[in-house]
Amino acid sequence: DVRLSDRVANARPSATGAVGEMARRLISQGRSVISLSEGELDFDTPAHIQHAAIKGIVEGQTRYTSVGGTPALKQAVITKFRQDNELDYAPEEVIAATGAKQILFNALLATVNAGDEAIVVAPFWVSYTEMVRIAGGEPIVVTPSERDDFKLTPEALAAHITPRTRWLMLNTPCNPSGAMYSRAELRALADVVRAHPRLLVLSDDIYEKIVFEGEFCSFAQAAPDMRDRTLTVNGVSKSYAMTGWRLGYAGGPNWLIKAMELLQSQSTSNPSSVSQVAAVAALNGPQGFLDDWRDRLRARRDMAMTILQPAAPMLTVSRPPAAFYLYVCCAGAIGCKTPKDDFIGSDADLARYLLEEGGVAVVPGAAFGLEPYIRLTFALSDERLKLACERIVAACAQLK
Ligand code: PLP
Repeated sequence: DVRLSDRVANARPSATGAVGEMARRLISQGRSVISLSEGELDFDTPAHIQHAAIKGIVEGQTRYTSVGGTPALKQAVITKFRQDNELDYAPEEVIAATGAKQILFNALLATVNAGDEAIVVAPFWVSYTEMVRIAGGEPIVVTPSERDDFKLTPEALAAHITPRTRWLMLNTPCNPSGAMYSRAELRALADVVRAHPRLLVLSDDIYEKIVFEGEFCSFAQAAPDMRDRTLTVNGVSKSYAMTGWRLGYAGGPNWLIKAMELLQSQSTSNPSSVSQVAAVAALNGPQGFLDDWRDRLRARRDMAMTILQPAAPMLTVSRPPAAFYLYVCCAGAIGCKTPKDDFIGSDADLARYLLEEGGVAVVPGAAFGLEPYIRLTFALSDERLKLACERIVAACAQLK
């Protein structure tokens, strides 16, 4: 009989995608829904990047390239890592792929055997645990307390390492919590990692450019002796409003990069040649507009937090220092009833209520491995964000 592989049967589909789907269904029925569920900037890809890509098309940069990226892109990535992160990589130590997502997927596929473990810090980006499972491994979820600002402590890390641990998956700044590790905190984690020579560290820095308070530091930057055990992952999606271009990149030891390139060569080949041209323009071009974007996002974060205040104690939110999400604790709403007498027993129930009765799509914390929370993105226009937050407050006021 026909059946799925264990690999697929064990994985869950993306919860953020499911919320988007529900929101689109309501919209198609003529309902007014504001989605705070997407993980992308509402800004357009800057004009100089658009034009570079168009020029690339016209000039024939439309053919297969080297699997791991063009020499021009690799050079731009090398320069970026050196300038921003004090990391020196050779061309054979960097790779470009179809989004940071493919980088992460191939890194796991290249290194994880059945039964191997990967430490994932909750709340985590929805794909981490599922990617580990698809690769045949077991995600070991560690949940720091909100008192530790959602950050993994060296003690908790040490307590979860076993002889089967292959990866520590770090995401700083973090989607969804916005938590960002300081240089000292990363050094303290490195002190633990150092004692376990089989352990690799994945540093997912994709929100590096969206930092409101504090200074970003990458893991191998904080602990240079960890460089050859670290895969430093980044991409143009979140920094340059280029989610649809699908272009991510990484730096790491050659043995790992080579293995990831092999997987890519037998699956997707090079990332889109046109997107590579665009990424070169993004990385090598002017960076000044990022300050303006950051200021606008900070103002939106603060506005959203102010508007949401009256929803306390049903909703409580701490100010994220980075990224563009609010990870809102909704413990105070659990146990309430809606005006239709539906019971709110979980964050998923609250998300459904907010969508169906409030007209706002948010993602329940269950998807990120930490309940009861809801994740709201503030990367949308001031007017829509304001309206969405007002709707949430009004909907919460109706709970009893
Ligand atoms: N890592 C994190 C933490 C993310 O939030 C995302 C996107 O949501 C990605 C990686 C993937 O980004 P890309 O668009 O480059 O595949």
